[in-house]
Amino acid sequence: MEAPTATGNEQRFTGIPVAPGIAHCAVMVQWEEDEEIALRKIEPHELPEEIARFESALIATRAELLEIQQRIANAIGSNDASIFDAHLLVVEDRTLIDEVLRKLDRERANVEYIFHQVAEKYCRTLAQIDDPYLRERVVDIEDVTRRVIRHLLGKAPRNPATHDRQHIIVAHNLTPSDTAQLNRELVLGFATETGSKTSHTAIMARSLEIPAIVGLHGICQQLTSGDDVLLDGYTGTLILNPSPETLAEYGRIESAKEEVVERLELIRETASTTRDGRHIVLSANVDLPEEIGDVAANGAEGIGLYRTEFLYLNRMEPPDEEEQFEHYRIAAERSKPNGVIIRTLDIGGDKSTQSLHLPEEQNPFLGCRAIRFCLQNPEIFKTQLRAILRAATFGNVKIMYPMISGIDELRQANVILEESKAELASRGVPFHPFIEVGIMIEIPSAVLAADHLAREAAFFSIGTNDLIQYTFAVDRVNDRIAHLYNPTHPAILRMIKMAVDAAHANGIWTGVCGEMAGDVLLTPLLIGLGVDELSATSAIVPRVKKAVQSLDASQCEELVRTALTMEDSAAIQQLSLNMARERYAEIAD
Ligand code: PEP
Ligand code: MG
Repeated sequence: MEAPTATGNEQRFTGIPVAPGIAHCAVMVQWEEDEEIALRKIEPHELPEEIARFESALIATRAELLEIQQRIANAIGSNDASIFDAHLLVVEDRTLIDEVLRKLDRERANVEYIFHQVAEKYCRTLAQIDDPYLRERVVDIEDVTRRVIRHLLGKAPRNPATHDRQHIIVAHNLTPSDTAQLNRELVLGFATETGSKTSHTAIMARSLEIPAIVGLHGICQQLTSGDDVLLDGYTGTLILNPSPETLAEYGRIESAKEEVVERLELIRETASTTRDGRHIVLSANVDLPEEIGDVAANGAEGIGLYRTEFLYLNRMEPPDEEEQFEHYRIAAERSKPNGVIIRTLDIGGDKSTQSLHLPEEQNPFLGCRAIRFCLQNPEIFKTQLRAILRAATFGNVKIMYPMISGIDELRQANVILEESKAELASRGVPFHPFIEVGIMIEIPSAVLAADHLAREAAFFSIGTNDLIQYTFAVDRVNDRIAHLYNPTHPAILRMIKMAVDAAHANGIWTGVCGEMAGDVLLTPLLIGLGVDELSATSAIVPRVKKAVQSLDASQCEELVRTALTMEDSAAIQQLSLNMARERYAEIAD
């Protein structure tokens, strides 16, 4: 975060903008679950005070829960008091409370430390019991624990009702699982201290159309829940106590942005063809099942990347074949007459879930992620493949394997696919036997072996988010080295060109489904490199269509010929930017 600037009562903080839009309302500063809770030894005479603090925190949490319960019951017009009943039982649970009191007496430490330890142990024990109901309770206990600790640390929202009113979240970090759970109606924006543009949290913010800023180091200390804040997701500025002049200025900015959106509406039903007649297939990325409606609404030609890992997050058991089949069937039906490319599970890296019992790894992005996990867990993989094969009878469905590093992995995955077909056949269940199978090109070894892979894959989709990460050895979520994460570096241009050329030489098409596909400043480069399809977050699709329609493929090729002779990534970026500004200035800011 840059040094804050202040005028009058107003204070500005600048971070990295990751999802466009403007939000203005009260902030809620989140207590970080993983935040270290300091251990403080206490003297015997301090014991009664610790017990009293604990009792007050339990009472305050109970009041908070009752208030939320009442509010929800009012909102849904029901007298059903059962919502949050399980949570309330936790704050009254004698076993838990007595254990805290005993430990407090024995270990003489601050009560938040003791309570956190006891609650964690409780959760671990419950999570191991072979009973789905008890395992589900872990989530309730974790939520209550967070609330009690917030009260003990004095970090509870000043206004407890903030949770159910619209607010902007400020947190040290949000995981993709946290983001997947955000309530679009209530959360108008979020800002985090860590993070990067291509983290899955940022990607989700763009798909959910929640304005967001990351990399605001130290911001949690600067704000208090309830503060009045304006979040500008275009420039990455967070403004505390915005002045009337600032609010008026942002009103004008919003109107101008809305005008652009309205103009883009007009081209929704038109083809995404360059001025000299090259059709670039324009599809949408879907991260959460509820985004499917946004695909056609934004004029995309189907789904170019359906990320399936979100079906596995925030739960204790993985989804079974039926549940997955239902999701994929809906995607198949709703993307007609176009199609949907379902990417098989890409768990690991920055996406973790309790439902798959993933081991802790030193380097999760270099670890047992995506296809590696699936090949090592064939039953989980087959469950998904069977669901996809069945859904494929309802529309135009293709399979895509993530993180393929070479031909062996592609072949191994295909063997498991054939086994899945045989299982369905023996069950007499209808499925599509000739489903097309493509791969993501996101590891440098796959680019270098693209000629081999293109002979056995039906298509390529270049995952630039990971390709850039793995090419430069730059962790895509680490903002300290974000300056090295460089889409216009000659190495990346060459990689994309190699993959496209190998695909075309073998008669298959190549798309780009990483975030580069949605960056309209880089569309001239991608078209010039010969990419056949671009798949971006639905909300960005109209902009990309505008860019495609404003460009000439032949001029883009000329631009790429020049770019490929250049060494300097900033100069290459400028070249592309110049063409973008010349052709579609209104969306190239
Ligand atoms: C990519 O790596 O570019 C990609 C699209 O996949 P993900 O962002 O889900 O890793
Ligand atoms: Mg990827």
